[in-house]
Amino acid sequence: MNIRIGNGYDIHQLVRDRPLILGGVNIPHELGLLGHSDADVLTHAIMDAMLGALSLGDIGHYFDPNDPQWKGADSLVLLSQVNQLILDKGWQIGNIDSVIVAERPKLKPHIAKMRDRLAAVLDLKPDRIGIKATTNEKLGPTGREEGIAAYTVVLLMLK
Ligand code: MG
Repeated sequence: MNIRIGNGYDIHQLVRDRPLILGGVNIPHELGLLGHSDADVLTHAIMDAMLGALSLGDIGHYFDPNDPQWKGADSLVLLSQVNQLILDKGWQIGNIDSVIVAERPKLKPHIAKMRDRLAAVLDLKPDRIGIKATTNEKLGPTGREEGIAAYTVVLLMLK
């Protein structure tokens, strides 16, 4: 088989006094995401989808959330390591499609920058990276602004 598909999901809690980083972009907001690393849910969902496509487990297996080494880690650095793992196994990304679920802030103005950041790390053209943002219509934890979630699918192709 010369193509594989993977899906990833992540959610982090919104709290005060934390930065809001999505797709490697620091977004001005009065709340940020809580986590051991920089809590970039979008990048985490993308990594899990990449690993899932090759049945390689999840990011917690490679970057232990209790390991002080990853405290405050830039998730783009972790993404670059996951990408290298995929490349070393003979695969490359075909395309990525993601949805971020956030009630606030408005993410549309930041999406082009997120695609550029991720594309640079993954050495892809930005047109291979789809990012959409939606609210949850005030329903559930994301709708109540208790957290932000992200869903991703990734297609991998044999090099
Ligand atoms: Mg996470």
